[in-house]
Amino acid sequence: MRDLEMLYDQVPATRCAGTGDCCWLTDEEFDNYYATMFPLYRAEYVHIVAYVEQHFSPQRRQELLSFTEERPRRCPFLGENHSCTIYPVRPLICRTYGAMNPVSIARQAIAHQGALPSAQIRAFVRREAGMVCPRVAVLEPEKVARHARMLMEGTYDYELARLSAEVELAGAERKRFFQRLTGRKEWPLRWSWGGFNTLRFSTLAWLRQYFAAYWKKAELIDQK
Ligand code: SF4
Repeated sequence: MRDLEMLYDQVPATRCAGTGDCCWLTDEEFDNYYATMFPLYRAEYVHIVAYVEQHFSPQRRQELLSFTEERPRRCPFLGENHSCTIYPVRPLICRTYGAMNPVSIARQAIAHQGALPSAQIRAFVRREAGMVCPRVAVLEPEKVARHARMLMEGTYDYELARLSAEVELAGAERKRFFQRLTGRKEWPLRWSWGGFNTLRFSTLAWLRQYFAAYWKKAELIDQK
């Protein structure tokens, strides 16, 4: 997962006040279909699984790998003291949260006018405006311009999709089951921790009995 770590390294490092506010949902956010730790790319999911298997106690590991809630109100990795318990391997969406502020968003939007299609710049402004957090400090301002350009050009998403295409979620029997049931050729590209867990860690008996209903009700699965 060296490529994934190199991609993450493009995001300016930040320091967060550690309130954990962005790691759980208010009632209003929940009702408006927000989700924590989402989108999670398949490559990121597999990366986090490896970390959990290596760094957590057997009991905690069991809790996390059997977690199947698709859109939880509270991220399963949020620690009791509001810290992120998978901080070194947290996904891109958590790393980019708060990495831009209203001043840097406006500055980068102006700097790229004429160089990129205005629709791309507008999409960048819209997305980043929703990710501003006054409790986050940017520690690597020298990376902000390149980071903004990568967001505008979709480079992060492109690279995460490329890396995910190289990653199998689970074994051949599960894949055949998934393909038969959903009519899809490939595993989901982006889903949630709980969603991916059903396919990778639930028993085959559970999958055969319950997965069809789970899939039908899924809210976060990438559209085909
Ligand atoms: S992975 Fe960590 S930073 Fe991201 S939502 Fe969960 S607890 Fe928060």
